[in-house]
Amino acid sequence: MRDNYGRAISYIRISVTDRCNLRCRYCMPETGISKLDHSQILSFEDTVAIAEAVSDLGISKIRLTGGEPLVRRNITGLVGRLAEIPGIEEVTLTTNGTLFEQMAKSLHSQGLKRVNFSMDSLIAEKYRFITRDGSLQDAWKGILAAMELGMNPVKINTVIIKGFNDDEILQFADLAYRFPLQIRFIEFMPVGDLLFWDQSRVISIQEVKTIIGKQYNLLPTLQAGNGPAEQFKLEGGQGGVGFISPLSNHFCAKCNRIRLTAEGKLRTCLYDYHETDLKSALVEGIGRAELAQLIAQAISRKPERHHMDCGWGENNNRKMYQIGG
Ligand code: SAM
Ligand code: SF4
Repeated sequence: MRDNYGRAISYIRISVTDRCNLRCRYCMPETGISKLDHSQILSFEDTVAIAEAVSDLGISKIRLTGGEPLVRRNITGLVGRLAEIPGIEEVTLTTNGTLFEQMAKSLHSQGLKRVNFSMDSLIAEKYRFITRDGSLQDAWKGILAAMELGMNPVKINTVIIKGFNDDEILQFADLAYRFPLQIRFIEFMPVGDLLFWDQSRVISIQEVKTIIGKQYNLLPTLQAGNGPAEQFKLEGGQGGVGFISPLSNHFCAKCNRIRLTAEGKLRTCLYDYHETDLKSALVEGIGRAELAQLIAQAISRKPERHHMDCGWGENNNRKMYQIGG
């Protein structure tokens, strides 16, 4: 369906858990996280019911995220059920990748089409620092497993943080030169509790592009779908790079997505705190057509653009890992 600004909504990001095996400094505090109780988390039954309803509205792509989606028990089974829904053409995943290798084959055989891995450093020590004890080697094994299974294009999302990894920009680009990987550089956004975020740590994506452009010839590529990344192939290389700049150049006019939190609340914009409680509606026994109607109403209220430049906002009491990054 189209929203009130004429945007075709074709994509839902579903957070399947607020839990994670890592503690990235900008995303989660080290301790004292108030985790959702199991009863608060949307069940697989209800997740499938919502996916069926959104497919009736023309949504064809689902991305599972979190928290870390691979820590949710039997996530493989959920992938299989979602992939079977008529109208759902693509089930994908955003993951830190550290648990992916051992699950790769079964996820793929259940219908997982593609994976976006998050990786903010290529140096084991720095990776361990930013994730608070994560293993770069485990994450890399996950990426290799996805490439071996031909889940192309395999993407890596890298949040560029000044003073932390801005000295690795060319190393990341080199990775895309040597491997058939799409490395997407993402601007550091002020979301959640602003645990590590500070304006002084933000580097504009234009600067990142300039640094890479001096070393590599960037060939613009046609973008698949309505994604936020400006994408390029590296001339002579195997893969490419993408630039995502939610802060300096918001892409709201092309936004095609809605989000479902781990608690079953629908958000039509990452930055808009208004939510529609689909879990409660399902508990009350709402039918498929009425559920689709409730979601359509929420989509019709999708804001024209975010106001990230004004900060996260007092009313926005959710964290990125609860909404699903
Ligand atoms: N655990 C999975 C992962 O790390 O890929 C999925 C959830 S994580 C919240 C999704 C993405 O959000 C990650 O790529 C992470 O880097 C990104 N993210 C979290 N906080 C962010 C911030 N303040 N600015 C930019 N990206 C952020
Ligand atoms: Fe976990 Fe992903 Fe947040 Fe890192 S960014 S703490 S891996 S949810």
